[in-house]
Amino acid sequence: MPDSLVNFLYIVSAMLFVLGLKMLSRVSTARRGNGISAIGMLLAIVTALASDSLIHWPWIVVGLALGSVIGALAARLIAMTSMPEMVALFNGFGGIASLLVGWVEFQRLHSGKMLAGAPWSDLLIIGITVLIGGVTFTGSIIAWGKLSEKLDSKPVLYRGQQVINVLLVILVLGAISLVSIGRTLIDSGSQLEFLSVYSVFVGLGVLSFILGVMVVIPIGGGDMPVVISLLNSYSGMAACAAGFVIRNNVLIVSGALVGSSGIILTNIMCKAMNRSLSNVLFSGFGAGGGAKHSADIRGEAKPISVEDAYPILEAAQNVLIVPGYGMAVAQAQHAVQELSSILQDNGAEVNFGIHPVAGRMPGHMNVLLAEANVPYDQLREMDDVNPIMELVDVALVIGANDVVNPAARSDEKSPLYGMPVVNVDKARTVIVFKRSLNPGFAGIDNPLFFGENTRMLFGDAKSSIQSLAGEFKD
Ligand code: NAP
Repeated sequence: MPDSLVNFLYIVSAMLFVLGLKMLSRVSTARRGNGISAIGMLLAIVTALASDSLIHWPWIVVGLALGSVIGALAARLIAMTSMPEMVALFNGFGGIASLLVGWVEFQRLHSGKMLAGAPWSDLLIIGITVLIGGVTFTGSIIAWGKLSEKLDSKPVLYRGQQVINVLLVILVLGAISLVSIGRTLIDSGSQLEFLSVYSVFVGLGVLSFILGVMVVIPIGGGDMPVVISLLNSYSGMAACAAGFVIRNNVLIVSGALVGSSGIILTNIMCKAMNRSLSNVLFSGFGAGGGAKHSADIRGEAKPISVEDAYPILEAAQNVLIVPGYGMAVAQAQHAVQELSSILQDNGAEVNFGIHPVAGRMPGHMNVLLAEANVPYDQLREMDDVNPIMELVDVALVIGANDVVNPAARSDEKSPLYGMPVVNVDKARTVIVFKRSLNPGFAGIDNPLFFGENTRMLFGDAKSSIQSLAGEFKD
């Protein structure tokens, strides 16, 4: 295939990626966007395979078949709530794949005795690929372990941690420099033989693996989704670097797209949590455990039964449902959808107020509600519902806590202060579905539970909602 045609097809693939990404930013177009990006990837793969005359087809076919089977099984079998773990594993595989591309290229130069003649910039990019790929791989495995509770999800902190990490970074940078200028040292008659350049390269791989573990262990399980988004970005950067190594334009472009979108998502998540990235990465948030109780939060929570909640909802004209992590834990999304339909049949307008970091991963609530067939146009962003909160007759808070904590607006001492929240406390009546007065992820008490207009419906969200729907049916 002529180079010009290959590059043209790569440009078409890149355009499909960009279009797909753009469509992913709206719930209503996300599914199609995913499909368009997948077509772009298919085109890129077919072009890459068709343009290389040296391809060993049996290996490619085996790889394709194995990958397709594993991917299809994973997509079918993994529960929605385990999505962050799966993304962590995928990032890790992306990282190790890029590392292997760098490794194979180094091996090729080494065994062909071409290291001395290779430009230092080529060796530098190979070193960078191995570094980012290695960090992404082991970092993602640790993230997966913490999220799936195969490892303790608490942050691991010890004295001198930062110093050790800085030392590791210095060693890694030293190894990359030696690998890239090894040829010059050899030319100048130094003791650095090919074998020792090779050992430095192996050392670089090992150090990268260790660095990946070290940078992720100080991060708490709850902050892992931010880290996964960051590792996703790293896996993109590793792929981009691998693209430079094998001079494949579409790999460079797709890697850069993943790298930059991962960073943007990380930034959005940090902003929505009112935390800086360095706070997420280095503060060991949640290491102490236990709740932070504020002395200023007083009052008595007013429990309500399903039977008493029914007439309030029966009379409501405008209902806002605000889901949170507890809805995912209770797997209450189908029950919530059923209640929403019943309320609409009863003449109420029902909307869902979605906070960007409700749950434990970006889009967590959207995914669950889409699974339960809640129409996209009922899902409203926080910024759309807050200005009209006074018009809401009843706000149903379903397993959400931090994302509806009004202390984020009013209590300067609260760690949540400044985080934008869904202002359900401004609705006429608030009914909170949760099992206790326990705090949520941030470990912070919530004055909403003691508000004049708040009623607490204690219990598992799914069974409470099902009972409430049952009241309507009766
Ligand atoms: P949250 O603050 O963690 O609160 C969840 C609440 O759900 C808990 O208070 C819990 O109360 C309740 N719950 C648990 N199981 C339940 C069940 N079976 N039935 C009913 N209620 C149940 O959740 P959120 O309001 O969604 O806030 C998300 C938090 O995660 C934020 O602090 C955010 O910064 C953080 N975070 C989010 C992301 C993301 O990307 N979405 C990433 C990292 C961190 P009970 O135990 O009393 O039932």
